[in-house]
Amino acid sequence: KQNYSKRKRKHKITWNRSRGSKLKDEVASIQNLQQAYNSIDASKVNSFKDFPLSDKTLKGLKECGFMKPTEIQQESIGLSLRGLDILGAAKTGSGKTLAFLIPVLEALYCKQWTRLDSVGALIITPTRELAYQIFETLRKVGRYHDVSAGLIIGGKDLHFEKKRMDQCNIIICTPGRLLQHMDENPLFNCSNLQILVLDEADRCLDLGFEATMNSIIENLPPKRQTLLFSATQTKSVRDLARLSLKDPMYVSVHEHAK
Ligand code: ADP
Ligand code: MG
Repeated sequence: KQNYSKRKRKHKITWNRSRGSKLKDEVASIQNLQQAYNSIDASKVNSFKDFPLSDKTLKGLKECGFMKPTEIQQESIGLSLRGLDILGAAKTGSGKTLAFLIPVLEALYCKQWTRLDSVGALIITPTRELAYQIFETLRKVGRYHDVSAGLIIGGKDLHFEKKRMDQCNIIICTPGRLLQHMDENPLFNCSNLQILVLDEADRCLDLGFEATMNSIIENLPPKRQTLLFSATQTKSVRDLARLSLKDPMYVSVHEHAK
C-alpha cells in the first residue's frame, strides 16, 4: 500500500512539473509574439509565417491551404496585432474575413482566453449568409485554439440555444438579432469584450441598421479594440467610424487597373 501511494505521489509531482513548464513555455512564446508586433514590416510579409502568429493559428491556416496573405491582410494584420483600431477599405473578395479572424484569434490567445471565459470577441456582419461563412472559416482556421464560437442570426437557422450563448467566446451575429439578444437575455454579458469587428459596415447601414448599430456600440465596454471594414466610405460609414473607433489606422487597398 505504501509503495502504491509513493508511486502515486511521484507521478503527481512529475505531472505538475511538466504542466508548469508547459505553461511557462506558453507564456514565453506569447511574450515573444508580443515583442515582435512592433517590428512587423508589411512590405516584407510574403507568407503568413512572416507574421508573429501562434503555432495554433499557423497550423490552422496551413491546413486550410492559406499560405500567402492577400493585400488587405498584408497591410492590416500587423496593425491589428498591435491592438490598434482599424478602418479598412477593401472590395468584396479581397480576403477581409481572415484580416479580422486572425487578429481575433491572436488577441484571445495572448490573453490566455479559454472556454471558461466569457465573450471576448463580437463580429457583426449584415446577413445570415455572411455570418455563417465567417463561422465556417473560423471553425477551420481556429480549430487548434481553445475557444468556442457561436452564431446569433435570425430565422429558423438558430444554431445555438439562447442560454448557451453567454458561454461562447467569439460571437458572430447580424445587428438586429444581436440587439434583441442583448435586450432579452440577462445572462448575455459582454463586459469583458476585447475586440469588436464591424464587417461590411456600409452594407449594414444600407440595410437600415444605423440606429441598431449605434445602440449596440453604446452598450459595449469602451476599453476594447475595434476593426471596421467597409467597401465604400460614405458619410454614414464615417459617422459610424467616429462613434466606434479610437485613433484608427486607415488601411485602404485599391484594385490596380488592368
Ligand atoms: P471578403 O470578405 O473581402 O469579401 P473573403 O474573406 O470572403 O473576402 O475571401 C474571399 C475568398 O478568398 C474566399 O474564398 C477565401 O477563402 C479566399 N481567401 C482569403 N484569403 C486568402 C488567402 N490568403 N489565400 C488564398 N485564398 C484566400
Ligand atoms: Mg466578407
